[in-house]
Amino acid sequence: MEQPQAATTRRGEQCSPAQQPAQPRIPERMCVACRAKKTKPELVRLVQSQGVVGIDFSGKSQCRGVYLCRDTACLERARKQKQLERAFRRAMEPTLWTQLQEAVSHDTAT
Ligand SMILES: [Zn+2]
Repeated sequence: MEQPQAATTRRGEQCSPAQQPAQPRIPERMCVACRAKKTKPELVRLVQSQGVVGIDFSGKSQCRGVYLCRDTACLERARKQKQLERAFRRAMEPTLWTQLQEAVSHDTAT
């Protein structure tokens, strides 16, 4: 009866390609306009506090946040499709769009 050789030959030993690189877990957030998942630095966070929706520059607010790409295209899309109004269930202050525009263009104009 033939016994299968269980012992592996040292000679043909390979490095395992399946070794996983240590990957830090980066939390991703979804843009309300394009629904793409991005990391926080790529997004602008909006929060509602005291009945007013504003940009959360610190990113530390515990309020419910909505994210938007730092991209004027997404900003326009969100405005036209009333994504923020829907997300926050309230009307946006007209000044918010100006603030967003500034935040977005400031960051991309590098
Ligand atoms: Zn987007």
